[in-house]
Amino acid sequence: QVALPDKPEYIQNRTLAPAFTAHYAINLISLEAYRQRAGYALAAAVVNGEEPAEGVMAALEDAGLRGLGGAGFPAGRKWRIVREQSAPRVMAVNIDEGEPGTFKDRSYLERDPHRFLEGMLIAAQVAGTEACYIYLRDEYHDARKMLTQEIEALQADPPCPLPYIELRRGAGAYICGEESAMIESIEGKRGQPRLRPPYVAQLGLFGKPTLVHNFETLYWVRDIVEKGPQWFSSFGRHGRQGLRSFSVSGRIKLPGVKLAPAGITVQELIDEYCGGMLDGHTLYAYLPGGASGGILPASLNHIPLDFDTLQPYGCFIGSAAVIVLSQFDRARDAALSAMRFFAAESCGQCTPCRVGTAKAVRLMEAPVWDNATLEDLNAVMAEASICGLGQAAPNPVRCVQKYFPQEIV
Ligand code: SF4
Repeated sequence: QVALPDKPEYIQNRTLAPAFTAHYAINLISLEAYRQRAGYALAAAVVNGEEPAEGVMAALEDAGLRGLGGAGFPAGRKWRIVREQSAPRVMAVNIDEGEPGTFKDRSYLERDPHRFLEGMLIAAQVAGTEACYIYLRDEYHDARKMLTQEIEALQADPPCPLPYIELRRGAGAYICGEESAMIESIEGKRGQPRLRPPYVAQLGLFGKPTLVHNFETLYWVRDIVEKGPQWFSSFGRHGRQGLRSFSVSGRIKLPGVKLAPAGITVQELIDEYCGGMLDGHTLYAYLPGGASGGILPASLNHIPLDFDTLQPYGCFIGSAAVIVLSQFDRARDAALSAMRFFAAESCGQCTPCRVGTAKAVRLMEAPVWDNATLEDLNAVMAEASICGLGQAAPNPVRCVQKYFPQEIV
């Protein structure tokens, strides 16, 4: 029996990853175990030229692999762009995973770190980067210890010549998950997003062309190349292709990371992968993409969840953090919680975001929303903020105004 809180506290209560730490001993695929599963054979083949770089990039393109950190940029094309830049080039891997509700990267990292490291080595070879900086979320203490050990084990017995690898501890700031802020942070500066252009692929870390990747994108490289692009693209529903790792939390029976076909609907995800809604709960609303991806009502439970499918509804999938709300929750509370988060995490560099998020919080705390003023703020934040934090901050507000007007009058 689940005790219902007076105020919805789903974000605090239900977005934590399962406690993998205690299960390291039985769950971690060590270097030795990974090698027994033919691990690093592909990386060695790519490094020594037996597996041509062109074939690897073509496989990623044919599979339709896109950046799984949220932006969704095609991975193969990104590798080509960086490869075409002048050397020296570097890579920065983003495992900051700060989007509320997202815990997929940690889940995979803590079980199978070498699948990711092999993808990273392949990317380094194909894109021609001489150094790899791994930026790991500060709060992932145990994962940092484990990854340090596994990288040292790899360096002690390398399957092929390795690039320079450095594991960097994140600074505990949400904004450091934004690629250019992460680069600033790795450089030892305050984590503030840069203005673009120039893009990081041209002028990134330490002034060098930089391949920036989310952890999970690299995690799939080995499987896609070994099993073939059709393996990955054969999954999918409702006209979409590929696999997506959904971090599902909220009023469901089985929260956790769900590897599911791209384009699955939230209703299918709940019914087939999450054991249904908690007893006594019915679907009221859901956040398809963490705090910044907006909020949708239960009546829109049939939309395929994928890149590009949610924009007509004022939402996006981002890193696929799905938070499920029931009749005991209010969308306006979720939106207020998200806006408080944005206000706290704004880096303060630009006025629309720094002032806009704080002012929006005050307006959203009122029992009746001043929609005209909020919409003014929304427009300024969305159009004049430097980075995605300020640009996406209005999403939950606009969704409440559009889909849940009965809550704010
Ligand atoms: Fe910083 Fe917000 Fe401006 Fe982004 S939008 S640069 S987080 S103040």
